[in-house]
Amino acid sequence: MIDFKHVTKTYKNGTKALNDVSLHIDKGEFVFILGASGAGKSTFLKTLMREELPTSGSVKVNGIDLISIKPRKIPYFRRTLGIVFQDFRLIPTMTVYDNVAFAMYCTGARAKEISRRVAYALSLVGLSQKARNYPNELSGGEQQRVALARALVNKAEIIIADEPTGNIDPEMSREIVDLLNHLNKNNGTTIVMVTHEHELIKQYNKRVITIKDGCVVSDTAHPEIAAGMQNNGEVNVASSAGFYHPPVEKVEIENFLQSYGSADDQFADISDGAELAGSNGADLRSSGVSDASASNKKVSD
Ligand code: ADP
Repeated sequence: MIDFKHVTKTYKNGTKALNDVSLHIDKGEFVFILGASGAGKSTFLKTLMREELPTSGSVKVNGIDLISIKPRKIPYFRRTLGIVFQDFRLIPTMTVYDNVAFAMYCTGARAKEISRRVAYALSLVGLSQKARNYPNELSGGEQQRVALARALVNKAEIIIADEPTGNIDPEMSREIVDLLNHLNKNNGTTIVMVTHEHELIKQYNKRVITIKDGCVVSDTAHPEIAAGMQNNGEVNVASSAGFYHPPVEKVEIENFLQSYGSADDQFADISDGAELAGSNGADLRSSGVSDASASNKKVSD
């Protein structure tokens, strides 16, 4: 699914941010990318999203060759990725609902489909009750959950989380990673999470790829033995973390997870979502997003 072969990236000023990186991540994996500041993590992600072109080597994601991809196809490729950033990147003038819906409007999705899926995505992250709030009315952890809802609403096959816990407290950090874990386990979404937080990683029994000075220095299924994380040689596979407790809301989250990514008609019997979306759909139009999904599509392309 993600295939890097001998990837080197040298920036114009001569900095070699990636140095002969080769790695493979399979569909359905959950992988932490660990490294200190300046190690090359962001460059790795930018290369993965085709924001940067490598100087040499090959990068394939979902069968698409990111070296030879035509520029006009890049936005469509990026829509197969759900991206979560450290600084959330929510639109401050839009409600929580509209922030998530906007991601779907940009793809030209139909209003009915948007209203159903946004409602479910919000329920999944436990924020249905905050649908009408604005980002500045939410805690950091809540804002990151909105960003996660936005990342998954377009049926992303891969969620790329760039230091998603960097701006939130430790307890909330666990919730975010537990939620990612839940999406991975129940929906098969591939998760690539970049972090420098050793302590957080130790709580999960996941593959950890460690980057240092642009090189992969370790790639292990046991976080405790990832480079720089030795713990008296003990491998503690029994972790207390990793269990996401879905919020208690009036929607069948597991059903959503199972059908997520499938045809529109699978959402046909959802009433909660349609109700929630009715009023917020109007918000979206009045906030300038408009019915003209086609024009949005053009802009975003
Ligand atoms: P990390 O995300 O692990 O902090 P980065 O990928 O951002 O690391 O940076 C890796 C190295 O590349 C650092 O030395 C950084 O200063 C350098 N770097 C990052 N972006 C650029 C750029 N656009 N131009 C020049 N050097 C860069």
